[in-house]
Amino acid sequence: MKEVILIKNGELALKGLNRRTFEDVMIKNMRRRLSDLGAVTFTPAQSTIKIEGEDGFDLDEAVERISRVFGIAGFSRALKLDKDFDLVLEQTGSYLEQQLLEAKTFKVAAKRSDKKFPFDSPKICLELGGKLLEQFPHLEVDVHNPELTVMVEVRDRDIFVHANQLKGAGGMPVGTAGKAALMVSGGIDSPVAGWMMAKRGVELTAIHFASPPYTSERAEQKVLDLLKKVARYAGRIELTIVEFTEIQEAIRDKCPEDLFTIIMRRLMVLCAQRIASRSGCGALITGESLGQVASQTMGAIACTDAVADVPVFRPLIGMDKDEIISISRKIDTFDISILPFEDCCTVFTPRHPRTRPKLHDVEAAEAALNVGELVERAIENVRKVVIN
Ligand code: ATP
Ligand code: MG
Repeated sequence: MKEVILIKNGELALKGLNRRTFEDVMIKNMRRRLSDLGAVTFTPAQSTIKIEGEDGFDLDEAVERISRVFGIAGFSRALKLDKDFDLVLEQTGSYLEQQLLEAKTFKVAAKRSDKKFPFDSPKICLELGGKLLEQFPHLEVDVHNPELTVMVEVRDRDIFVHANQLKGAGGMPVGTAGKAALMVSGGIDSPVAGWMMAKRGVELTAIHFASPPYTSERAEQKVLDLLKKVARYAGRIELTIVEFTEIQEAIRDKCPEDLFTIIMRRLMVLCAQRIASRSGCGALITGESLGQVASQTMGAIACTDAVADVPVFRPLIGMDKDEIISISRKIDTFDISILPFEDCCTVFTPRHPRTRPKLHDVEAAEAALNVGELVERAIENVRKVVIN
């Protein structure tokens, strides 16, 4: 028995050239994701991409990984048969046994792109439907709203049999919407923000600010572990770790305490956009959500954006914490995010941060720092780690 995966891109609204690029990028992403599972071929034909591995290919694992590739709305596991209708009658019942046992109602649908095949669609449905009713007497046919649709596709070379589609990750293939730098902390929000932008087709690179000795190696490991989870969806992510201690100490020593956070965030953005542009990114991504903390008020965000010369994407801006948490559970980052290691944002945090900072006050306070030099030194002092 030969089983394959069929990716349907039928719903794709894109047409023409866009569609080709979209499909090419998606195949490239899937190929990378499955590369260590052995030899596998991807065959695009008739708005379907067929994925077929050599003998011994771990299809369960492949299905699991494919379910996290963006750009795929739905896909199926399918039985591949030679073009002999008797084989369909013989093997469909056992191939779909579990699903046929669980369903109460079903129908057979057929698609015949090879018009020379001696059985037309109505005949396929009638014959296979009758056979399945014999094998599974508890079933009833419901052509309008069946629990299970058994699909028979007669293609040029093979016949494929499959049942209800599995849900894909949706979104757009990573890489079709450019590249952006995720500012990632060890918290709940930023990994979710990265996942959301990757879902829209953005390739991710990541930047993390660490403040040793105030922050520990375990805090850094936490960021790596979080990005590993995000990379299961987003693909390869290069992480740049920036040493932020000197900047934080300078702000603590020279700026008013109630402006500490906002000035720190502006320096983070200044460093991040320099690193981002070096790696070809067109935007920054943060996990900010309006009003969640003092540095995420409209005024504070305006002060941060005033130093940004690229767009700052904040996909969580209108989301409640419980909505963010439910995504973080879904992508399996939540349990890592809640581990209790110090982040550089929690070091030196003021007791009473200003919630309505005025840009001119912030700029005046910042004048006590040598911002240009601090940023320059920080971005020279980085480490890079690749997460696959
Ligand atoms: P998160 O859950 O992502 O940590 P948060 O609610 O704790 O977010 P803040 O600590 O104010 O909020 O940080 C807001 C955003 O700033 C984060 O979502 C992240 O994008 C960025 N950020 C915060 N700390 C760091 C850091 N150490 N390195 C890189 N980016 C950071
Ligand atoms: Mg945080």
